[in-house]
Amino acid sequence: MKITNIQFGMLRVPLKTPFKTALRTVDKIEDIVVMVHTDSGHIGYGEAPATAVITGDTHGSIVEAIRHYLTPRLLGEDIADLNRITGLIQASMEKNSSAKAAVEIAIYDLFAQLYGAPVYKLLGGGDPVITTDITISVDYIDKMVADSISAVDRGFESLKIKVGKDIGVDIERIKAIYAAVENRALLRLDANQGWTAKQAVYAIQTLEDAGVRLELVEQPVKAQDLEGMRYVTERVHTPIMADESVFGPMQVIELIRMRAADIINIKLMKTGGISNAIRIADIAAMHGVECMIGCMLETSISVAAAVHVAVAKSAAITKIDLDGPSLCQFNPVVGGVIFNESEITVTDAPGLGIREIHGMETIA
Ligand code: MG
Repeated sequence: MKITNIQFGMLRVPLKTPFKTALRTVDKIEDIVVMVHTDSGHIGYGEAPATAVITGDTHGSIVEAIRHYLTPRLLGEDIADLNRITGLIQASMEKNSSAKAAVEIAIYDLFAQLYGAPVYKLLGGGDPVITTDITISVDYIDKMVADSISAVDRGFESLKIKVGKDIGVDIERIKAIYAAVENRALLRLDANQGWTAKQAVYAIQTLEDAGVRLELVEQPVKAQDLEGMRYVTERVHTPIMADESVFGPMQVIELIRMRAADIINIKLMKTGGISNAIRIADIAAMHGVECMIGCMLETSISVAAAVHVAVAKSAAITKIDLDGPSLCQFNPVVGGVIFNESEITVTDAPGLGIREIHGMETIA
């Protein structure tokens, strides 16, 4: 099974409600779909969103990176040589992690199709049912409380609350949501770099003193501010999770060495795909550090890949934040991972099991 061609599509899916964080507001998913063709007729699928404010990747940069730097290195390569191919992808250029992720996902899809097994089985196997949280966008307090209650009523047992706008209002937001859903759901806060280190300590200690128990607080400070992250981690009881601060395995090693955070959020769009996500899970497990697996605004192509990683690496990846598909108004993908609100189930279909993608526009 040799690579013969790589093609692109654009997939647009409206969201049920606008996605609002301290960094941005988005009302639809617009992702690049990558199709890796082979001489056997098998097609591998990958996907990447433009997340300029986090990874630096745009639709244009993703397509250009793949077209001019990845594709020329991969044409003619044999899918059976998985480790060689992932090495070629990662060494093709600096950064561009989302472009690399899209192609790696498609390669793993093909590798598993080659052996007629779902991806997670070739990564070591696991229990093919996992449970995700759902994001509650930052908004007026009453709206966030209503969205939280509605999510709990839909069966979500963990809520990822977006904060990081105005520290005083953030504290009131959390108190109100905690009071509204107490004992029915765990709360994860994501500040998306919105606080300074001192503000974060103040906010988290205030919530702790008020009896609000949080499962974790994610990325309270700026991505580059590892010292600030350590400052917060040292001063609060609530576990602190790094997201935008860590992309690849080298940064994870540094974060663990500094004890700058308690938990690591793995996203395929930051790691450049599955091979480095596995490395991070293994490094974290060796150090007794837990991981979350998350996604950007992605549909059930690349999120399916993250699900397979989560299933196979469940000893290290104990928290799941793969709500992209459940934020969409509809699922454009007919495939092997079934997203039903909080419950995600993987079937035995080979690869990622993607059979059809509805509404995809071709990119010439
Ligand atoms: Mg985050």
